Parts: sequence; structure tokens; C-alpha cells
Amino acid sequence: MARIVMKFGGTSMAGTERIRRVAELVRAQAAGGNEVAVVVSAMAGETDRLVNFCREANPLYDPAEYDAVVASGEQVTAGLLALTLQAMGCKARSWMGWQVPVKTFGAHANARVDDFDAANVLAAMSAGEIAVIPGFQGISEDGRVATMGRGGSDTSAVAIAAAVNADRCDIYTDVDGVYTTDPRIVARARKQKYVTFEEMLELASVGAKVLQTRSVSLAMKKNVRLQVLSSFVDADAPSADTLPGTMIVSEAEMEAYLEKENMERQTVTGIALDKNEARVVLTRVPDKPGAVAEIFLPLGEAGINVDMIIQNVGRDKGETDVTFTVPQAELPRAQALLETLRDKIGFNRIITDTKVAKVSVVGMGMKSHTGVAATMFKALADRGINVQAISTSEIKVSVLIDSDETELAVRVLHTAYDLDAEAAVDGADA
Ligand code: ADP
Ligand code: ASP
Ligand code: MG
Repeated sequence: MARIVMKFGGTSMAGTERIRRVAELVRAQAAGGNEVAVVVSAMAGETDRLVNFCREANPLYDPAEYDAVVASGEQVTAGLLALTLQAMGCKARSWMGWQVPVKTFGAHANARVDDFDAANVLAAMSAGEIAVIPGFQGISEDGRVATMGRGGSDTSAVAIAAAVNADRCDIYTDVDGVYTTDPRIVARARKQKYVTFEEMLELASVGAKVLQTRSVSLAMKKNVRLQVLSSFVDADAPSADTLPGTMIVSEAEMEAYLEKENMERQTVTGIALDKNEARVVLTRVPDKPGAVAEIFLPLGEAGINVDMIIQNVGRDKGETDVTFTVPQAELPRAQALLETLRDKIGFNRIITDTKVAKVSVVGMGMKSHTGVAATMFKALADRGINVQAISTSEIKVSVLIDSDETELAVRVLHTAYDLDAEAAVDGADA
């Protein structure tokens, strides 16, 4: 017997028919003698719809009221799944975030979660009742509904798994594991049996949607065994207990696996893309000490996340151009803030571009191999793809390119780093 947390994403919960399929997967785990908690997302598209209502009602919406609205999507699916399980003869009940209680802290609409006591849920699970918990939502320090940022149900699932001390947290989605890149974009993407926490963290933070970044860091911190697998499987598919998906593992576990299989670690293990960045250029900024601080301190204070930064070589007149990226959603705020600082900073023009994409290659092997960035630049140059900005970390290289060239760039890099599978993945449209 094991204690399992099962999380189902939006496409898995999209309509009563899909929910019935999910209920069958849950029932099978419970019938195997396991204690089960289920964390659910809103139906696919529902959170977007609710966010749009908030924007229409008040473009400068209060994040606490936004939370009251957008948390409702998960409330509906949690109730529907509990009803469906009951109709199948299972003992099940829903637990809203405040009832668990999933305690959050930090800003509304982007709340964080760490430790909380889920003794009551655990007691119900031990008594053989399936606990159905809405993802994404919790209760803030001021006692109001809070949500955890887009994709936050992954983090809810990991937090619940840690709170009930689960043996495994299974993240069911619409792909059957973590691939070398988005399998919907590259037909030859390869499914990985194991990915390390560090690599998954980096991949998630540069745009691989499959797990929310915070869910990975929380799982790493709390030692939660995390598997990504598909809910779109036939009744006779191998059970989740046989680990058919991708396990997110520690560095030591990965080393042991590679040794056992007599496999070499690849330098690059994943490629991610992000089309939600915007490029900002400030022209003719004074080329003097302190000038860049005048730009980035106020942006930081306003909570605007700056990613890539380039300062061009100064011109003759002691001026330089400064280029950086911000999330597209933050661009209007960043632009308005910089306008108010025009005289203080002393720049000439603000040029913005949202037709950009960030493509990143990630791999632990980069720590010990040189030439990874050079391979990237050469492969892109050979296809005439221009690099507008670069950023690196110990295990990642990212480039900013024209968004029209994203898919081509990802495919070219996938081949350049020797990641292509022999046969194409069914259904991918590359
Ligand atoms: P859910 O609604 O289940 O939370 P998401 O849409 O958030 O699902 O995440 C799953 C999607 O992540 C997949 O459909 C796939 O297009 C995308 N994805 C991006 N990068 C990867 C990757 N490396 N491996 C698998 N899926 C990826
Ligand atoms: N429904 C929320 C979203 O779309 C949370 C989630 O699905 O993870 O962001
Ligand atoms: Mg998701």
C-alpha cells in the first residue's frame, strides 16, 4: 500500500467525459489499496476566460479580487470529480483550499506555499476516502482566497504530497512525460525516463510548461518523488506504479541510473522556448558609472522581472544603447515607468518589440563540457537565424531571436545537439 497524490491538468479535466476518465484512473489507484489525494486544475481554457473577465471588469484589477474570481475554476472541477467518483461507488469528498487549509504567503495572484498541516485530509485518506483538492488556490495570511500563479496546480500537488508525506506525486497531463523539447513542436523529441531536479528547474524557468518552476523547487526541497505521465491512456495501459512516465530525480539517482544502463550523460538534455518575452532598447543612455543602476533599480522595485541584458559598446559621445527583456505582460508597466524616469536616466528613445522568442538549451553536462554555446550560435547562423541577445547560467544558454523563427531554431538545435529520436512522435506536426 502506498500514499499517492495524483494531479490532473486542464486538458485532462476538460468536460464531464474527460473527468469520468480521470475518475477511472483514480479509482484504479484506490482499488490497488492505495491512499489517494487528487489535485485538479480548472477545465482547459477556463482560467484564461476568468482572467479576461477580470480585465474587462477593471483593467487595474485588485489581485485579491482577481483571486476570488480565478480560483473558482478549480472549485468546479474538484466538486465534479468528487461527484463522478461517488457515482462510481467510491468514497470521495472535495476539500477547498481554505478547508485543508493550504496556507499561502506573499502577493495575491502569485502566492507561494511552503509548509502546512493537512492532518484532517490525511485522516480522511487513511479512512479510505479519496480527497479531491482544487489546485492553484489556497488561503492567504489575511484569510482570503489566494492563487499561486499560472500553472500553479503543479505546485499545489507537490505541496499536498509533502504535507501528507506521500510516496509519490504523479502529475498527469496531455503528454506522457518530459521530452528533450516540446513534443508538439519537434516530432523527433525524445521522451526521457529520468530528468534531474536541477535540469527540470532550469527548463521550467525558461519556458517548458510541463511543470511550474515552483513545483520543481518545492519537490526538490521536500524530497517529493515526482512523476510526469499522461492521463490520455487506454484502460490496458501500464499502471502509474510501474513508472511509465518521466521521474524527476536527484543527481545521485541519475548517476546511478546512467551507470546501471552503461549510458553517457549528454551535454544538452533539453531545449525550451518562451514566446512571452518582450525586448526593450533604451537608446543613447549616458555611458557613465551608475547609469544602468538608474534603469534596473526602479524596475526591480516595481517587481518587474528583467531577464536578458546587453549594454552595447559606447559611442564616441559617451552614450550607449541598453537592451533587455521583460515578460510581455509587464511591458506596458515597464514602459510607463521608464517614461517617468526619462530625464533622470537621460536616454533618448524607448524601442520595444514583442515579436521575439527566447530559446534555451539546458544540460548538467555543460558544467564539464566547453563549446556548447558555440555549437548553438553556429547552428543558428547556418540557418540565417539572427541572435539579438544572449544569457547564460552554469547549465543553460539562452538566445533571443525573431519569434517567426522559433520552431525552426528549436528543431535545428535539437539536431545539432544530437537529441533527435529515430522515429517521429505520433501526432507532432513538425
Ligand atoms: P496541464 O494543463 O496538464 O498542466 P500544460 O499545458 O501546463 O499541461 O503542460 C503540458 C504541455 O507542456 C504539453 O502539452 C507540451 O506542449 C508542453 N511542453 C513544453 N515543453 C515540454 C517538454 N520538454 N516535455 C513535455 N511537454 C512539454
Ligand atoms: N488553472 C490554472 C492555470 O491555468 C492553474 C493550473 O492549471 O495549473 O494557470
Ligand atoms: Mg500546467
